[in-house]
Amino acid sequence: MSQMTEAPAAPPPDMYARRLANKDAIKRKRLLQLVQAALKPLKKNGFNAACFENREEARKAILDLVPPEATIGVGGSMTIREIGVLDDLAQRGHFIQNHWQAGLSQEALLAIRRAQLTCDVFLTSTNAVTLRGQIVSTDGVGNRVCAMTFGPKRVIIIAGANKVVRDLEAAFRRIHDVCAPLALGESGDPIPCVKTGVCTDCDSPGRACRATIILDRRPMLTDTHVLLVGEELGF
Ligand code: SF4
Repeated sequence: MSQMTEAPAAPPPDMYARRLANKDAIKRKRLLQLVQAALKPLKKNGFNAACFENREEARKAILDLVPPEATIGVGGSMTIREIGVLDDLAQRGHFIQNHWQAGLSQEALLAIRRAQLTCDVFLTSTNAVTLRGQIVSTDGVGNRVCAMTFGPKRVIIIAGANKVVRDLEAAFRRIHDVCAPLALGESGDPIPCVKTGVCTDCDSPGRACRATIILDRRPMLTDTHVLLVGEELGF
């Protein structure tokens, strides 16, 4: 009678192979954990906050939050455009005050920025959301930070998990070390953070860091919604 010899079991993959195989799933889990961690503090601070696994879920939530026939203002935000909701809203027939349209004269640009302050719904992102439930935004012009605070009846702030930070110190570091250099990157202006990647607290004419608003609590007269997405979005 011949004896069957069993083939030896394959050795388990090494640590590198295991981590590589799980890298994307681990990252996704971590991003979701971050937005979930910010949710409770935001609610405690009076914001209508919700979090979503991905941009598609967030897109649907935005559409639900915009009443029919509402006029819309949109801040200078990569996040909003990456979600793709502006096309949906335009198809629904909303009038959108969008100062990133091509071909605007300086007068038209200014008029749109002013009109954003009195629209029914203002859509924007922010630069940082802290784990204490604060929302921190810095502008060069200031139309976004004004509209986020008072004017529009409803403000919808959308932020990817990459914008969740521990505290205000980390928020300001993010604004100067990440947001400004990346947002200004295509401007061609000789701004220190664009040239070197490092903030020098510059006096450049093109300095983007001029007006900062910290929403410690939901502004009293504004229906402010914060939608957090467990993905990297915008700068
Ligand atoms: S202060 Fe100037 S150098 Fe620093 S991040 Fe802002 S624009 Fe860049």
